[in-house]
Amino acid sequence: MKHASKGECMRNGDSFEIIIIGCGIAGASLAYFLTERGAGDVLILEREEQPGYHSTGRSAARLVTLDPVPSMFQLLLASASFLREPPAGFSDSPLLEQPGNFIMFQGPMWDMIKELAPFYEQSGVAIELLSPSQAVNRIPVVSPEHMDGAVFLPNDGHIDVHGLLWSYLRHARQKGADLRCGVEVQEIRVERGQCCGVTTNAGEFRARKVVNAAGAWAGVIGKLAGAANIEFTPKRRTIITFDAPADLDVKGWPHIANYSHRLFFGPESGGLLASPMDEDPTEPCDARPDDLVVAQTIERIEKLVPRLLPRSLKRKWAGLRTYSPDLDLVVGEDPLVRGFYWIAGHGGSGIETSPAVGQFAADLIMEGSTDRIDASVFAPGRFVNR
Ligand SMILES: Cc1cc2nc3c(=O)[nH]c(=O)nc-3n(C[C@H](O)[C@H](O)[C@H](O)COP(=O)(O)OP(=O)(O)OC[C@H]3O[C@@H](n4cnc5c(N)ncnc54)[C@H](O)[C@@H]3O)c2cc1C
Repeated sequence: MKHASKGECMRNGDSFEIIIIGCGIAGASLAYFLTERGAGDVLILEREEQPGYHSTGRSAARLVTLDPVPSMFQLLLASASFLREPPAGFSDSPLLEQPGNFIMFQGPMWDMIKELAPFYEQSGVAIELLSPSQAVNRIPVVSPEHMDGAVFLPNDGHIDVHGLLWSYLRHARQKGADLRCGVEVQEIRVERGQCCGVTTNAGEFRARKVVNAAGAWAGVIGKLAGAANIEFTPKRRTIITFDAPADLDVKGWPHIANYSHRLFFGPESGGLLASPMDEDPTEPCDARPDDLVVAQTIERIEKLVPRLLPRSLKRKWAGLRTYSPDLDLVVGEDPLVRGFYWIAGHGGSGIETSPAVGQFAADLIMEGSTDRIDASVFAPGRFVNR
């Protein structure tokens, strides 16, 4: 943190109402909802040369409307409505393809899903419970021995992340938001407990509201501000892509996962993608795939869906899913530094929940409260002992 001496913050740099640090999906959706609410004077600062370079550009792009945590489930439901039916003129093409999600479970996980299924149904989620033989009839490459049952979620599917990110940004910019890439925030200026701007490699920018949307670097940015000390854990996740067997038409397949045996796979650009659902903790970084994890993925395909065993790989990549200590989102004003806001800890759901999270975060920043959800469960103050 850089403590400004009296008046210093008011002298240097261009002035904005709100500065957002980071242009992944969190920063972009927030900019959209802030400008929708009339905050035209928004500056988004992104260290990389393009938005979405880190986690946002590396996701599996799924909407899965299942979550046993009520607060997250509520955000998923609200976001699903936006993704299925965005506001008129929001995007040029549909944001969601709906081939569905097909998820296999074994043991206690299956018992839990069976118990929760009526609740999901009552909440409006279309959900089919399938026995192992019904599941194999639906997806013949899977084997009944690796599951006690499966669910099919016909209204879920694949999000056009690029379309979503750039639609948020296009509308925000049309309403006056300014996006600057290649600009790294290096200091947060705080004057008598109140945020007053940032220092970057491109100079100083003044604002009394600064938002930390820095993804895996959220903890680093929090420390720069002298804000609540929240230990985020970025966890690496790996994806490989490869050709489908020539005699299988996989194009219309749903996304398929076995949560108990930890593998997901599904159609991707005419072929297939797969992930071992790895979660190795790491420092914030430009994540790269680990050869051992790639080998593990192939072994798991061989065991669970041998028909799909890749002969060679087309691409492989890794990205970070970043979690707070209690695994829940961190959204709202910092308890120690006035005007410093968090929108962080999106874990593995940042794309699919971005409409609802961006919207209630904008309420908190503009109004100090929201009536859309109980935002107290996400408040950064929960990590501070008073
Ligand atoms: C393999 C994988 C699969 C996933 N699958 C899904 C899925 O199916 N569905 C789903 O909803 N989610 C999924 N996720 C999770 C999702 O991608 C993330 O939750 C989401 O992208 C987080 O967005 P973000 O904006 O917080 O972070 P990011 O996209 O990482 O953006 C943060 C930005 O902050 C910038 N930044 C950091 N420090 C500074 C600084 N000092 N100055 C300026 N800029 C800075 C970074 O450069 C970065 O661009 C997946 C993630 C991975 C890795």
